[in-house]
Amino acid sequence: MTAIDPRELITRKILQIIKILGIGRIPPFGASTYPFTDYFKGFEKVQAIRRIFSEKTENILRNLKVELTWIPGYMWINLDGHLVVSSRYLSNGDKVDIYLDVIHELVHVKQFMEGRGLFDIHYDYSERPTEIEAYRCAVQEARRLGLSDQRICSYLRTEWMSDRDFKRLASTLNVNCDEQSQS
Ligand SMILES: [Zn+2]
Repeated sequence: MTAIDPRELITRKILQIIKILGIGRIPPFGASTYPFTDYFKGFEKVQAIRRIFSEKTENILRNLKVELTWIPGYMWINLDGHLVVSSRYLSNGDKVDIYLDVIHELVHVKQFMEGRGLFDIHYDYSERPTEIEAYRCAVQEARRLGLSDQRICSYLRTEWMSDRDFKRLASTLNVNCDEQSQS
């Protein structure tokens, strides 16, 4: 019998989830809008998402449109409340990051449906209540998967967020991104 490294177990668990999701094939250049469920399969079974939409989950995901774009970046919600995903990110991005981003963006889809302002300029990005709520949901799922604070920090860290904003966000979310505590 050989002992299994706990990190190995986490990776396996995540890979299983990603397999369930069955992220679809990237369409040819020029193609644009698709049903969410064509690209992100099995999300309706994920508890974190059922907590967002409850019994309306299947219906909402079936009607949600995804626009694949050649604009570089990650994913975001456009002014119509649809999900826009960079095709490059979808094909080359880290699968765990993509999974957590989808959860984050689906929280925004719900907020949009509730008529809440997603683009409220009265707040800085890292303090906007709609962002905090979306990040909280993604971080909760990351923790459930067993990701370490270090891994969650690397997920939260994006090139367009200032160091100050990043630290403020991590602290709001109770994620320890203090560099001294990480080797
Ligand atoms: Zn957001």
